[in-house]
Amino acid sequence: MLKLAVVGKDVSQSQSPSMHTFILAKMGVRCSYETVSVPPAQFLERAESLFSCYDAFNVTIPFKGEIIPFLKRTEGDARIFGAVNTVVSATRTGYNTDGEGFALMLQNAGIEVKGKTALVLGAGGAGRSCAKKLADGGALVSVYERDEERLFGVYREIGGFSPLTEIPRETFDIVVNCTGIGMHDTVGKTPVVSMEGGMIEPVGEQILGGCKAAVDLIYVPAQSEFLRIAASLGKQTVNGAAMLFYQAYYADCIYLKRTPDAAEAKQLYLAYQEGNV
Ligand code: NAP
Repeated sequence: MLKLAVVGKDVSQSQSPSMHTFILAKMGVRCSYETVSVPPAQFLERAESLFSCYDAFNVTIPFKGEIIPFLKRTEGDARIFGAVNTVVSATRTGYNTDGEGFALMLQNAGIEVKGKTALVLGAGGAGRSCAKKLADGGALVSVYERDEERLFGVYREIGGFSPLTEIPRETFDIVVNCTGIGMHDTVGKTPVVSMEGGMIEPVGEQILGGCKAAVDLIYVPAQSEFLRIAASLGKQTVNGAAMLFYQAYYADCIYLKRTPDAAEAKQLYLAYQEGNV
């Protein structure tokens, strides 16, 4: 039986236990899955014990970078971005499955990215993963971020996109909200952005009117204000629920040294949703 956990500042409401338990059971593996909420000031003293307590664990806000000094190595996106969401204790290896979860969410929603223009709002941890996956998939990617230092830092780090400090008045096929604006205390709001010409506006019809698909990484609420506006304009909308599930699926494949399969992941997601409606 695998002993697993998710570690974050406040993971008391996390969906990780139910998702991982569900996925692993379908893969024929029993597990225990605990939530470990750690105040940031205590993380350094508590991190070491995670490796002896759990076979593997997931890491979330705000410890995706803080865990790295405790690891022997990081792989793939975790190495590129310096952010880890999955740890295997025996090898002390860190992985990041967010980008793979995002790419699979788009694929399974039927959103073709090759040759499409994409606007990513926000260049934080998730924004940079999404920008890279869109660029890897052949999209022409622009990233808007209000913090210029962060924007150009990410640009130097991964490149492959146009860094925007103002959003041009042109259309993008896919618009992705990676700012987190629209959840918690910003429910009912969309990100406020600088438009070309110096106007500061909330994201609305101006940006979403010309797109084909609007994607929000937020999954609570299920329909953010960003997605509500896009839906009211007749656009395809996708929230972050599938990404969350798929990043868990990829993490479980790492735990079990199993080759991920897009069709299997989709089937599991549909079954999981059915059981959770
Ligand atoms: P983060 O590192 O805090 O990044 C958010 C970025 O958006 C920051 O660069 C922030 O800049 C920027 N931002 C905030 N308000 C903005 C605005 N009005 N205009 C432009 N940029 C703005 O957070 P994260 O870890 O990337 O997460 C972002 C969102 O993705 C959250 O909602 C999170 O829950 C979600 N997420 C979902 C999944 C999933 O599986 N569905 C996975 C990962 C993340 P400032 O620092 O200047 O505020």
